[in-house]
Amino acid sequence: MVLIDYLLMKDMEQKLHNEAKALLEQGSVDYIIGFEPGSLKFTTTPLITRDKNDVDRLVIDSFIVNNLANFLTELKGRLGIVAKGCDSRSIVSLIQDNKVARGNVVILGVPCTGIIDLSKAEKLTGKDRDEVDDISRKGDKVIITADGKTSEFPITEVLFNNCLGCELPTPQEYDILLGEPTSPVADKPVSQEKIDQLKGMTPEQKWEFWKDEFSRCIRCYACRNICPACFCERCFVEETEPQWVMTVPRWQDNLMFQVIRNIHVAGRCTDCGECERACPVSIPLRSLTKEMYDLVDELFQFKAGIDKDAPPLMTHYEQEEAEDFIR
Ligand code: SF4
Ligand code: SF4
Ligand code: SF4
Repeated sequence: MVLIDYLLMKDMEQKLHNEAKALLEQGSVDYIIGFEPGSLKFTTTPLITRDKNDVDRLVIDSFIVNNLANFLTELKGRLGIVAKGCDSRSIVSLIQDNKVARGNVVILGVPCTGIIDLSKAEKLTGKDRDEVDDISRKGDKVIITADGKTSEFPITEVLFNNCLGCELPTPQEYDILLGEPTSPVADKPVSQEKIDQLKGMTPEQKWEFWKDEFSRCIRCYACRNICPACFCERCFVEETEPQWVMTVPRWQDNLMFQVIRNIHVAGRCTDCGECERACPVSIPLRSLTKEMYDLVDELFQFKAGIDKDAPPLMTHYEQEEAEDFIR
C-alpha cells in the first residue's frame, strides 16, 4: 500500500480503536457497530460487539461498503456506530422519522474518500479478485497489482458510481470525527451515465428496458432488506388483503414492487447505493432511486438526512404546493 494513504487510514483506525474501547469501558454504549476484515480478499463485514477486547478487529479502509445504519433499528440500547458520510445521512433520516433517538446513538464519523467497486477493478485488470494481489490508494489514483504486474487507474474509474456523485463524504452529524474532513471525488457524468441514458429513451423504450431488467428479478428482497430507509415492520409485498403483488416473481409484479418501494423511500433515500450493490442479478436499481432523489430535490428542494431537526418530507406540505387536495 502507498505509505501516506495507508498511514492516514491507520491513524483513523487507531483513533477508532481508542474511542470504541473508551465508550464500552465507560458504559456510554451497549454495542459498537463497525467493520472487520471479511473472509474474502478486499472485503469487510459488519462487526457488532459489546466486548472491548474485540475493538482491535475494527478496520477502516477503501472496502467498508455496508451502510451500517440499517442495524440501528434492529438493536436495542445505546449504540456506537461507525458512519461514512452517506451512512450518517441515513442515521439522520431515521432520527427525523423517530425511528432512532439521537441520544441513543454515538456516531463515530469517517471522512470518506470513496469505496472501491471490486467489479470495476476486475473489469479493468481482466482478473478475478482472487487473482489480484493488492489494491491500494494513492491520492486520486488506484494501484492494482496482479500476477506481479502493477497498474495505475484514475480513482474515478474504480469507485462505485454513487461515490462519484457523493455530495457529502464527511459526516455532517457526528459525535467523534475520526479524521480530517474530505472533499467529494466528483465525476457527475460517470455517476449519472445510466440515469441519463434512460432519460434519453422514449417511454416505449423505457418500458422495454425495465421489462427486460425485471424479468431477471428473483424477488429475493435483498434490495429492500439492506436499505436503511425500508423499515416498515410489515412490507406491502407481504400483505394479502389487498394483495399488492403476486408472490411469484413475474416481471410485472417485480416492477410494481420497485415502483412502490421507490415511492416509499422518496425523501429518505440518501443515494448510498446499497440496494443496487446487493442485487444478485445486477439490476441497475440506482437508475430508479437516484432519479427519485433528484426529483425530490428538484420539486421540494429536499435532500434526505441533512437536518435532523427538519420534518420528514412526507409529513408536511407548503401552502404553495401544487395539489389542492392536500390542503
Ligand atoms: S457515497 Fe460518499 S460517503 Fe458514501 S461511501 Fe461513497 S463517497 Fe463515501
Ligand atoms: S435485489 Fe434484485 S433480484 Fe432481489 S428483489 Fe431486489 S431487484 Fe429483485
Ligand atoms: S433506496 Fe437504495 S440507495 Fe436509497 S437509501 Fe435505500 S439502499 Fe440506499
